[in-house]
This record gives sequence, structure tokens and C-alpha cells, in this order.
Amino acid sequence: MDLKALIREIPDFPQPGISFKDISTVIGNAQAFHYIIEELAKGFRADRPEVVVGIESRGYIIGAPLAYALGAGFILVRKPGKLPAATERIDYTLEYGENSLEIHKDAIRPGQRVLIVDDILATGGTVSATAELVRRLGGEIIGYAFLAELDALQGRTKLDGAPIISLVHYE
Ligand code: 5GP
Repeated sequence: MDLKALIREIPDFPQPGISFKDISTVIGNAQAFHYIIEELAKGFRADRPEVVVGIESRGYIIGAPLAYALGAGFILVRKPGKLPAATERIDYTLEYGENSLEIHKDAIRPGQRVLIVDDILATGGTVSATAELVRRLGGEIIGYAFLAELDALQGRTKLDGAPIISLVHYE
């Protein structure tokens, strides 16, 4: 299925020079949404995660159904101040400023097999910060799944060598 044709590109959003990949058009298509989850699940059925970690907020759209399809639990990584119990927090730098993410300290048991999911892999800052949170809790990262990847930004070089599946690639 030609997913790229269904992802809308918005020029100069959120700032001039950025071509934003708007996934709302592809997830709004029933066949495409089903296909995305099935294709990503196929990639991790032979080596299943016990939990899927989704990154707020578009990571939840892909991560939660993927966890369900793989028979895994689903864990939230959230922006600061949203999670109610004790959290582990990471502050990291993105191209346009500082950012922070949190996870419940007891969300992952040491040694648990974790798949990390987001909609887009761009510079890799967000997902590598998430990977650090997972490692701090003792999770074993078995892979990364994305709907799309912006290859030129080389985000995958920030990751640790676990398998990465992206269904759509942009130069
Ligand atoms: P990174 O940290 O890899 O530079 O950026 C990835 C994060 O920013 C992801 O959480 C993703 O949702 C968001 N992001 C960056 N660029 C885009 C884009 O073009 N489209 C969408 N949908 N999200 C983006």
C-alpha cells in the first residue's frame, strides 16, 4: 500500500522551512490504519516484546493498537507533570529548544522486553531520550517501530543497534 501518498505534507509548519508530515490523513483511512498496524506487528511477531512504550501523543495512536496486536502491554511516556505516580524524568535538547519526558518508575520491570514506538523518527532526540528512560528502569529494548522516518536527519544513528522498522522513508 502506498502510505506515503496518504500522508499529507504541510509546508512551513510549524515554522518556515519545515515540511510537516501530517499523519492524520493516513490514520483516518481505515484500510491504511489496519495495514500500518499489521505491517509493524509482522516485524516483531518472531521476537515479541512484553510491553510497548508509546511516546506522547502521536506515538499512542500507533503504539496502543500495535501492543494489542502483539499481545503486549502498553506503557505511556508523557510530557512532564501528567503522570500521577512517582516518575523517572529526562531533560533533553531538541533542534528548537529543551524538552522533557517522564515515565512511571514502576512501569517496566528489570529485564522486560520493550518495543519503543512513535509516529515519526526525525532527529532521534525524542526516541533516544525515551530509550534512556527505559534503560534506567532496566528494560531490554528489543526494537523500535515508526510509521515514517526522515532519513536525512539520521535519527537512527542515535539509537542503540536494536532493529528499527519504519514503513515510510523520506529523503
Ligand atoms: P525528533 O525528536 O526525532 O527530532 O522528532 C520526533 C518527534 O517529533 C516525534 O515525537 C514526532 O511526533 C514529532 N515530529 C517531528 N517531525 C514531525 C513531522 O514532520 N510530522 C509529525 N507528525 N511529527 C513530527
